[in-house]
Amino acid sequence: MSDEGKTPENGDPRKMLEDQILDDHPRLGTEDKFKFRCHPGVPCFNTCCADVNIFLSPYDVLRLTERLGISSTEFLEKYTLLPVQKEMNTPVVLLKMQDNEEKSCHFLTEEGCGVYTDRPWPCRMYPVGLATSRDTEDGWSGERFYFLMKEDACQGHNEGEKDGVEWTVREWLDDQDVDAYDEWGEAFKELTLHKFFDDYGPLPSSKMEMFFNATYDLQKFREFVFGSTLLQRFDVDEDFIQQMRESNEALLRFGFLWIRFAVFGEPTMRVRPEAEHAVQQKMDEKKKEKENSPPFSTSPEEEGQ
Ligand code: SF4
Ligand code: SF4
Repeated sequence: MSDEGKTPENGDPRKMLEDQILDDHPRLGTEDKFKFRCHPGVPCFNTCCADVNIFLSPYDVLRLTERLGISSTEFLEKYTLLPVQKEMNTPVVLLKMQDNEEKSCHFLTEEGCGVYTDRPWPCRMYPVGLATSRDTEDGWSGERFYFLMKEDACQGHNEGEKDGVEWTVREWLDDQDVDAYDEWGEAFKELTLHKFFDDYGPLPSSKMEMFFNATYDLQKFREFVFGSTLLQRFDVDEDFIQQMRESNEALLRFGFLWIRFAVFGEPTMRVRPEAEHAVQQKMDEKKKEKENSPPFSTSPEEEGQ
């Protein structure tokens, strides 16, 4: 874990962190090597799981809620902080630390991480970081590279040197089982760094809430999808609807499609022909009503004046 993600005073904290990283760390490719060993015998064991800013992705939240057996709404209330800054295009979710002297993570146990197999992406990656640069005019270029975090408090580098434990970046990623996290992380970045924000700036609060629910608060998004007329209005494959009923991952996939449609105006959803027909009918009726009504109406009292 790293404390490099300290929330800056202003600006999007993820972007500020990325800029700082690009300045401070040499780039690594997947075949570059480093020495590192972390184990319960190191003197610093568990110290890195306290007083640290960990940015959570929607997939991190999904995995942790399923691990803890609680709803996303409860998880977000209990275990996260949602810093709000006016320059932020999309919501930012941080893992909340405990209110004790060490400010330790809620999931830390004496034996180590209590949610180890579902720990968030930044906890898996450490000491390797991933940065992506956005350097094309028309959006996200997809360039990505790794870097190594070396902090004085972390003995893992010395241990690795001492015991000759060497990794390529690729080996580290495989060992930490990050692939699913990476895939979801990339898909989420395409939303948070969408060209829409260059043209229109930060989302208004109603759209921000929609973005938050469809990505992080899947409990609320589930209520919206299955408790409204949405599935009557849009043509969604029946098998996919069934998958969404049974799986949060399918629901999250739908959430990403929904954001593209409802926030960015992309054609990721198709209105059902009958719903389109009903809307058209309503519009025609309204038009007719308008045509048949007098240019302005007056009350009898007004007429008598
Ligand atoms: S989730 Fe686990 S690995 Fe991450 S900070 Fe908390 S205890 Fe440490
Ligand atoms: S070696 Fe580094 S990663 Fe491992 S417990 Fe110590 S500080 Fe944390």
